[in-house]
Amino acid sequence: MRVHLTATAAAAVRRGHPWVYRDGITGGGGSAGPPGERRRGERSPRGGGAAAAASGDVVELSAEGAFLGRGLWDADSAIAVRVFQRAQAPALDERAIAERLERAFALRDGWFAGRDTTAYRLCNGEGDRVPSLVIDRYDRVAVLRLDGGMLAPWLDRLLPHLARALGTCGVRSIGLRARAPSASGDAEGKEGKKLAHLHGPPLPDRLFVRETGVAMEVDLARGQKTGAFLDQRDNRARVRALAAGRGRVLNLFSYAGGFSVAAALGGAGRVTSVDSAPAAHASAQRTFRENGVDPAAHDFVTADAFDFLEKARGRGDRYDLVICDPPSFAPSERAKPRALGAYRRLHTAVARVLDRGGVLCAASCSSHITMEDFLATLDDATLERDDLRVRAIHGQPEDHPTLPAWWEGRYLKFVVLE
Ligand code: SAH
Repeated sequence: MRVHLTATAAAAVRRGHPWVYRDGITGGGGSAGPPGERRRGERSPRGGGAAAAASGDVVELSAEGAFLGRGLWDADSAIAVRVFQRAQAPALDERAIAERLERAFALRDGWFAGRDTTAYRLCNGEGDRVPSLVIDRYDRVAVLRLDGGMLAPWLDRLLPHLARALGTCGVRSIGLRARAPSASGDAEGKEGKKLAHLHGPPLPDRLFVRETGVAMEVDLARGQKTGAFLDQRDNRARVRALAAGRGRVLNLFSYAGGFSVAAALGGAGRVTSVDSAPAAHASAQRTFRENGVDPAAHDFVTADAFDFLEKARGRGDRYDLVICDPPSFAPSERAKPRALGAYRRLHTAVARVLDRGGVLCAASCSSHITMEDFLATLDDATLERDDLRVRAIHGQPEDHPTLPAWWEGRYLKFVVLE
C-alpha cells in the first residue's frame, strides 16, 4: 500500500516527525475533520492510494515519486499514519518492532539497575521509536497503552515477544489499559475497571511500588494514566529536597499524594493535600503509612483547588512551599487561550497564599502550552508580586524520551520559583 504525501508532510517525516495527519496525504479525500466529529468505527475519508487500507496495515510513504519511509495506517484517528522507519530495509514486522522494544527495555535496565525505583516507563511510544505503544512498569506488572487504533491488530503477534522480553526484566503479568472512555462509556470493563489482563498471573487492583526509595501505592484498576504519574518522579525527588525545614507545605491537585509524601519525608512540618477526589486521599494516606509517616499529622482536603485557595486566603493561611500540578487545561490547540486564562487565575490565587521567602513549584502537562507560554502565566503581573525568581526549570525524566522533531512529546513543564 502506497501513500503519497504533501511537500509539508514529507518534510516533517524527513525531520523525523512520527505523525502524518490525514490532510498531509494527497490524492483526494485526504482531509477529515477532527476525530471527535466521527463516530467510532465509522470509516473516514481517505486519500493518496490508501483506499483499501485498514487500521494496522503497513503503508509505504512516498513524496514526488520517491520512497520516504514506512508506517502503520490508522483508519479512525486524525493521525493517519505513524511512521516507523525511513529506510527500505528491514521489513516492518513484529520482529522489527520487538527489536526496538528490547532496545528500550535494555536502556531502562541500565537506568534503573537498583531496587530504589521499581516503577518506570519501559517504552515511551514515539520517543522510543515504537509509535503508539506506551508500556509502564509497576514492579512485576507491565501495563500497555495503545494510542490510536493501529497497533491493536498487532497485539496477538507482539505478545509472545513482549512476554519473553519483559520476563527477562522480571515482569510477570501484562495488562492492557482501556482507551479513553468513548461517548457511550464502553471502554471500562467489569466494575469500572480500566485494565484488561493479557498475560501471566492475575493483575492486582492495587500494589505498592518504590520510587527513588519512597513507597507509593498505585491503583492499576482505576487510577489515572496507567495508574500513576510516573513522569513526575524526578520532580517528586526535587520536592523532597526543597521541603527540608519548611513548616507549611501545600500540594494542590495532589492525586495519590506523591508530592505530599515526598515533602513529608523531606522534613516538612505539616503537608496539606488538596484534591477533588476522595479516593485519591485514601490512597495517599496508605502511602504515608507505608513510608512510616502518620497521616493524622497532615491534612487531606477534598475540595476544588480554586475554592480552597479562596478560603485559605480569607483565613489568612500562608505556606512556605506550594506544589501546583493541575490536570491538562489545554487538551487541544483550540483550548489554549482558555487554558492560559485558567493557569493565570490559578497562579494569582496561589501567589496570594505563598509566604515571603516561600517556594512555588508550578507544573503543566499540556504540550500545547510552550515553556514561554507557561512562564507568562507566572510573571509579576499575574503573581502580583516581584520578589520571586525562576530558580530552576525541569521537564520529564529520561524514561520519557522524545525526538528532536516531535515537540508534542515534550509536554511536561515544572518551574521552581523562589
Ligand atoms: N500531582 C499529581 C497528579 C495530578 S493529576 C501527581 O504527581 O501524582 C490531577 C488531579 O487533580 C486528579 O487527582 C484530580 O482528581 C484532581 N483535580 C481535577 N480538577 C480539580 C479541581 N478543580 N480541584 C482539585 N482537584 C482537582
